[in-house]
Amino acid sequence: MTSDNFDIAIIGSGIAGGALAAALKASGLTVLLLDRRSGPLDTARGDHIQPAMQPVLSRWGVLDLLLEAGAEARTGTRWFDAEGAHIVTVPVPQRDDCAGAFLFLNHEKIADILLGSAQEAGAVNITGVSDWLLERLAGSWRIEWQAEGRPRAATCTMLVAADGTASTVRSRLNIGLDRHRYQYPIAVLYGRQQSATEPRTLDVYLAHERMVSLIPRTGGETKVGFPVSPEDIAFWKTESEESLHRRLAEWCPGVSFESLAFGAIYPPVSQQSASYQGEGAFALIGDARHAMHPARSMGMNTCFRVADQLAESLSGLKSGFSEAQVLPLLSEFEARFAQELTPRLAENHAAGLQMDTIAGSGFIALKTQLRSAAEDTRILNAMALKAAGLTV
Ligand SMILES: Cc1cc2nc3c(=O)[nH]c(=O)nc-3n(C[C@H](O)[C@H](O)[C@H](O)COP(=O)(O)OP(=O)(O)OC[C@H]3O[C@@H](n4cnc5c(N)ncnc54)[C@H](O)[C@@H]3O)c2cc1C
Repeated sequence: MTSDNFDIAIIGSGIAGGALAAALKASGLTVLLLDRRSGPLDTARGDHIQPAMQPVLSRWGVLDLLLEAGAEARTGTRWFDAEGAHIVTVPVPQRDDCAGAFLFLNHEKIADILLGSAQEAGAVNITGVSDWLLERLAGSWRIEWQAEGRPRAATCTMLVAADGTASTVRSRLNIGLDRHRYQYPIAVLYGRQQSATEPRTLDVYLAHERMVSLIPRTGGETKVGFPVSPEDIAFWKTESEESLHRRLAEWCPGVSFESLAFGAIYPPVSQQSASYQGEGAFALIGDARHAMHPARSMGMNTCFRVADQLAESLSGLKSGFSEAQVLPLLSEFEARFAQELTPRLAENHAAGLQMDTIAGSGFIALKTQLRSAAEDTRILNAMALKAAGLTV
């Protein structure tokens, strides 16, 4: 079996793996991506790109590609109470260091664009990989796998795991994990609203007992997300379209849909992995490292942020670098992660807990906070900066 050599091998070519490969495009480093999937990523995931992340994507040379693929702009987040009365709109900050709007494009298209752009710059992307084995050699890693029915192998100086929440690499390398499972799964429906705003907004309804988010999708579609009790899952999967309309009309007064269909159920988790303490050059990124509750549109955006930080840490390396050269850079990356990411994860967890209810009692505390924001521009501006990804 022949074995190719790469500077960096990334296991998992989802958003995080694709983002890192795109971020490394101009580095001159050789990159191999390996993934077990052979189809597209699950679409019902992160698809809104924060204003603060767009200059980063522009630097990687993918922002224009996202726009060409049909990415659309949305303005702020509108909050409504259970009666459908508008509480406040959190705007998008208008500043030089970030875009003037969120951008949205379906999740699997974002992943395809990141990967396509990295491949064009020379990254090797192999999908449909199975039975892979990982071995430490002196100063490098060796990976063996099966693809298209034949055994293959490669060596790399640095290994990156970006294989998602249930990371196999993380468990094989015995990396510790701190995990919180939220009580209520999130149901996702897809539909088309009768009169969506133009430009689009993200709308959140504080129904009496749960928070319901209406999230714009391209082409005038809407993704609806809300927590459900495990006992209600069968209802959402089997109910007629008419009763889905009725239920949403109760929760989001004044909103009506032309069409509505069940999409999927997701059990949200938040988790943070420890940093790797073993031998060799290794980094864990994406949901494998920092899975987040879908609240606040942060998971995918955090993948971009961390990929950019890792690429920046490696920016002084030339192709053919040694393990001894990369190890101190990885220590710096880990120190920055601990300092900058830990507060973001904590903030997201707090938002996840706030949303993790189907007995919200009208969300009195949250409504009070939103009403204060409506009356005080300093509070509103602070919320806008956080939503845009400019502050924690
Ligand atoms: C319902 C839902 C809504 C969300 N909404 C938002 C949002 O609005 N905004 C936002 O920013 N984020 C959101 N997120 C989070 C965001 O989607 C994730 O943070 C992001 O997709 C994680 O990317 P990843 O590359 O780490 O993982 P993944 O996208 O899961 O990719 C992991 C890749 O690794 C591969 N893989 C897995 N195991 C192996 C293995 N053993 N060998 C080889 N390959 C393997 C998989 O095939 C996959 O391609 C949401 C998530 C969910 C579930």
